[in-house]
Amino acid sequence: MAQAASSVAREVHRHYIGGEWTAGMDAIANVNPSDLHEVVGHYATATAEQVQAAITAAAQAFESWQFSPIEQRFDALDAIGSEILARREELGRLLSREEGKTLAEGIGEVARAGRVFKFFAGESLRISGELLASTRRGVSVEITREPVGVIGLITPWNFPMAIPAWKIAPALCYGNTVVFKPAELVPASAWALSEIIARAGLPPGVFNLVMGPGRLVGELLVNSPKVRAISFTGSVPIGAAIAAKAAARGAKVQLEMGGKNPLVVLDDADLEVAVNVAVQGAYFSTGQRCTASSRLIVTEGIHDRFIAALEARLATLKIGHALAAGTEIGPVVSEPQLRQDLDYIAIGQREGARLRFGGQPLRLEHEGYYLQPALFTDTQPAMRINQEEIFGPVATVIRARDYEQALAIANDVPFGLSSGVVTRSLRYAADFRRRSQAGMVMVNVPTAGVDYHVPFGGRKGSSYGPREQGRYAIEFYSNCKTAYIAP
Ligand code: NAD
Repeated sequence: MAQAASSVAREVHRHYIGGEWTAGMDAIANVNPSDLHEVVGHYATATAEQVQAAITAAAQAFESWQFSPIEQRFDALDAIGSEILARREELGRLLSREEGKTLAEGIGEVARAGRVFKFFAGESLRISGELLASTRRGVSVEITREPVGVIGLITPWNFPMAIPAWKIAPALCYGNTVVFKPAELVPASAWALSEIIARAGLPPGVFNLVMGPGRLVGELLVNSPKVRAISFTGSVPIGAAIAAKAAARGAKVQLEMGGKNPLVVLDDADLEVAVNVAVQGAYFSTGQRCTASSRLIVTEGIHDRFIAALEARLATLKIGHALAAGTEIGPVVSEPQLRQDLDYIAIGQREGARLRFGGQPLRLEHEGYYLQPALFTDTQPAMRINQEEIFGPVATVIRARDYEQALAIANDVPFGLSSGVVTRSLRYAADFRRRSQAGMVMVNVPTAGVDYHVPFGGRKGSSYGPREQGRYAIEFYSNCKTAYIAP
């Protein structure tokens, strides 16, 4: 199937517009961050006309797809989910080659994407409304959900398969049509996912893929009056600009952005649990998760023991090629991201934090963007390394006097995506759950790593608009209608 959709000479993977595989003007070489000599593939970049053609195709397809039988939606979403799950090893390998997360993480992410499609296949059979009595005699009130229209989906590079899945699946489930724009760094997963969707029996134009830079493809989607809603996951500045533009023309908008997630470790924590939860949350997936625990806030009584145990565990972590057996931490995704990580490590040192472990680029057998996981101790809450998202394998330790001070520090950042506490106290666990200013709160489990059937999202600078995932996704991907009916 890849053959059919690619030009043979250099196998440039094409856009999918109005049911046709369409060549672009230009192509991007997708390089493996574990081995800079390996090109994963070449992927087309779209022209402005191609983006407009995709939007027009989606608008035309919406005329009919909005009334499509729910069984047709079920069948398509179910088939997509089944194929993704059946091919999880192969697709996971592709994902790990282009993004750099370990093979186990890549396969896990692909499986999650498959499950998301299965979940929304089921949801398509459960679209319901409400029937209420009216305040007026003989009148009843019906509240129903209707599709929104063409939805523009703009995604980041760090979950190349799962984030597109959790936007595309609900969009189609609730009767919308889609123009999907993946991040430039990870077109391979997006293309493979689109190729599966293209064979799922959807009418032409219901789903479209246009690849290319955000400032062209993304902006055309955001500014098109035919695109009735934008779902974006990415960085704060881009998200803020998108929200302003979408709001100005009255389009729906949903943003999932950065994090500076705290993990609070209290004196009564089980030390082994605390270290496991911290290492997984802070460093797995190379720390490139919006839910990563980048701040470890540790109370006095356990502080020194926790750091010693954490340091010992960090020394055993195996950093390497994403596909190599035993690798626990893959490379950083790109050269600019590696530079950003190193810049923040230098900033932390200038701010007076103690670089207790790691933080050096690594030269391994393959040339790649390898970085030794970094741990800062003796940091202050106001330091930039404790306020700004680094988005790499870098964590800080902040010492707190007691639980109350730890909670105050945890909340004192502009973000509020996820947070965690490690404790054996029911009282502290309950209090933290209530008073943490985050959209997702974890007790004795890592701040990163969430289920696919429940809402995902944050507060403050981390998120804007309705929640993603689970049944709550219906809020963004449908419009509510209230009808008054008299016989
Ligand atoms: P980014 O903001 O640079 O890019 C995200 C997407 O927006 C890409 O597809 C990009 O091409 C597009 N884009 C760029 N400029 C645009 C413009 N002017 N108009 C429209 N679209 C444009 O983010 P990134 O570097 O790909 O991803 C990393 C960021 O994503 C981090 O900040 C991370 O915290 C965040 N993230 C958040 C979540 C979450 O759910 N909260 C999940 C994953 C990643």
